[in-house]
Amino acid sequence: MIAKDLRSGVEQLGDMIAEASIIVPFTGAGISTECGIPDFRSPGGLWTRNRPIPFDEFVASQDARDESWRRRFAMEPTFAAARPGRGHRALASLYRAGKIPAIITQNIDNLHQASGFRNDDVIELHGNTTYACCIGCGAAYDLSWVKQRFDEGGAPDCTDCGDPVKTATISFGQAMPEDAMRRATELAQHCDLFLAIGSSLVVWPAAGFPMMAKNCGARLVIINNEPTDQDDEADLVIRFDIGETLGPFAGN
Ligand code: NAD
Repeated sequence: MIAKDLRSGVEQLGDMIAEASIIVPFTGAGISTECGIPDFRSPGGLWTRNRPIPFDEFVASQDARDESWRRRFAMEPTFAAARPGRGHRALASLYRAGKIPAIITQNIDNLHQASGFRNDDVIELHGNTTYACCIGCGAAYDLSWVKQRFDEGGAPDCTDCGDPVKTATISFGQAMPEDAMRRATELAQHCDLFLAIGSSLVVWPAAGFPMMAKNCGARLVIINNEPTDQDDEADLVIRFDIGETLGPFAGN
């Protein structure tokens, strides 16, 4: 059912939250647009400006690695200034209340952790852009370390094994993180309310989790300001702004 206006959508969502024992949110870039981080597919989104660099290209080409890091550092003021928005705060409030055991996110911006979720309770399907990792041995690096090397001689390699260092994110063509996929599957299969928030639901395999939850008996709510392919399957579709929709649940 599609909420006919914001007020009735918020009311129906409130009822569903009250009735649920285990709520699992699944978030996408739309929850962070009010924090100043552009999404991918809205007009003016990142996708419209930069073609994503696939993983095999990053591995094969120093130029691609340089371009990838140049883009990342160009975004640094945006990521560094971003603070949790109303959507993040509402979910953190439900987490504190014990209704949400953990959150599944496609986002890489660290804002769920910043809103109060424990690191272990944020299941990052696409990694995290606030630090870097060696793609070979997995050694972690601070972005400040990468920036210094980058300024001196371009995209750096790992000091341990010599493989390229990359933001700790999952690029197109890169294997999904096994542990995150396993935990997200468990969460989707064992909740009674699944909230898909701010995702166009076109990036797979992540976009499979809403229907997985629904097929395991959960009610499905989709909150997104444009239609998605899964709207027909949802128990409630709220096609309004996320901050406006979740703001009433943000508490103090
Ligand atoms: P997407 O860009 O494909 O979809 C975002 C959706 O959110 C769009 O349908 C858009 O209409 C909607 N939206 C934007 N602002 C909204 C608002 N205020 N209220 C309601 N709806 C709003 O994003 P996705 O589905 O998450 O997939 C994109 C991929 O890009 C993800 O894998 C993610 O890793 C990455 N990404 C992450 C960030 C981030 O971490 N903040 C930002 C850009 C891209």
